[in-house]
Amino acid sequence: MTEGLHPNLQPMFDAVLERNRGETEFHQAVYEVMLSLTPIAGQRDAYAQWSILKRICEPERQIIFRVPWVDDQGRVEINRGYRVEFNSALGPYKGGLRFHPSVNLSIIKFLGFEQTFKNSLTGMPIGGGKGGSDFDPKGRSDLEIMRFCQSFMTELYRHIGEYTDVPAGDIGVGGRELGYLFGQYKRITNRWESGVLTGKGLTWGGSQVRTEATGYGTVFFARDMLAEVGESFEDRRVVVSGAGNVAIYAVEKVHQLGGRVIAVSDSSGYVVDEAGIDLELLKDVKEVRRERLSAYAAQRTSARLVTDGSIWDVPCDVALPCATQNELPESGAKALLANGVRLVAEGANMPCTPEAIAIFQGARVLYAPGKASNAGGVATSALEMQQNASRDSWGFEETEAKLEEIMGEIHRTCVDTAEQYGSPGDYVVGANLAGYIKVADAMVAQGVI
Ligand code: NDP
Repeated sequence: MTEGLHPNLQPMFDAVLERNRGETEFHQAVYEVMLSLTPIAGQRDAYAQWSILKRICEPERQIIFRVPWVDDQGRVEINRGYRVEFNSALGPYKGGLRFHPSVNLSIIKFLGFEQTFKNSLTGMPIGGGKGGSDFDPKGRSDLEIMRFCQSFMTELYRHIGEYTDVPAGDIGVGGRELGYLFGQYKRITNRWESGVLTGKGLTWGGSQVRTEATGYGTVFFARDMLAEVGESFEDRRVVVSGAGNVAIYAVEKVHQLGGRVIAVSDSSGYVVDEAGIDLELLKDVKEVRRERLSAYAAQRTSARLVTDGSIWDVPCDVALPCATQNELPESGAKALLANGVRLVAEGANMPCTPEAIAIFQGARVLYAPGKASNAGGVATSALEMQQNASRDSWGFEETEAKLEEIMGEIHRTCVDTAEQYGSPGDYVVGANLAGYIKVADAMVAQGVI
């Protein structure tokens, strides 16, 4: 995974590999950013210098802790908790918490690294961080989830705060979990510090549109990409992977813009529904009943469940990977291409492998990296922080309009930056360079810390 790196950057990447052995997801995220730094790698200014890049690749603080809790049978369970405070050049660390059995330090570091540049792109005053646990919420009762969240926060609380580090949700952490986490923080600190977490419920400091923001934002971004080449979502066949928070609201916005989502997936398989995904049924199955997609297929005659294939085999014009990292490999990219895909925009973080990205770019498929296209979630979290700080709350339309404007600005920044550095139409170069330069500028200004 070192092909194509500028000779000035190669030793820096080698040092990252050496210092973070075995952390493959983290290597992948650093590689993608370094590849995009090629246009400035030959310059003798601070961005390309070892000192800035070396520091950007090293988290400011990494916290790993034991999370003991008691299950419904009275057994003591142990999980591992993480919070990686990656970069605070632009503001307090900001990024979600992920509860999933696959979570390890490499995954949290790749997410925190990506988050730093994503947050920079939003134009909001937020640094980058990420956290979570290898806890698996699947099949756990509400009481078990509550006990786990309380134990997790009993350690995490000493590291976070409105001006320090502001976590939010991610895979496995939604409104229910954030409620338990906020409650425990409030109890331990005896403070109503609403700005300490985002994604809160609407009656206790949350923001309108935060639930919808990542999915809606991804689709706003994809719409702007299509508009750039004179096209739209009207009558487009769209495939969305995942059936969680990001996927569900991506489906909703595609339908509002005149497209038709014909397939969604979860970890048990995917459903194809040529009549168009029934959003109310999908929400009921995944958000309310927390069941598998087989329950969707069982209730809908136009739908069929596929448990032994790839969702990327479904012919479509637009593909929105919204499940998890590396879910769209080279084989998926080839299948999409063979079926004439026009645009791929990432709702998830790093869902396309480097090989898949190379295929899309080689074939001039419009492709947006997650740090640009899924930035609407964290941008709306920053809007939630603004509302908390001013003890205000805005309406749905007003907040959605702000989200749409922010996504438009991120899109414009990517397009303009790519053009400025000689790679017109390359959203990867545009996003990475714009995000990187702003963080690097702030780090230079703040000295060696
Ligand atoms: P959720 O936990 O709400 O949903 C994740 C969905 O993806 C679930 O439906 C899950 O299936 C499915 N899934 C997980 N692994 C696989 C797999 N290997 N194959 C197919 N489906 C899979 O998480 P979110 O929607 O919040 O997050 C999804 C992605 O978006 C992540 O990469 C996250 O980091 C990223 N993201 C999220 C943001 C947010 O605001 N929530 C912000 C920016 C990025 P099942 O239902 O079976 O568990």
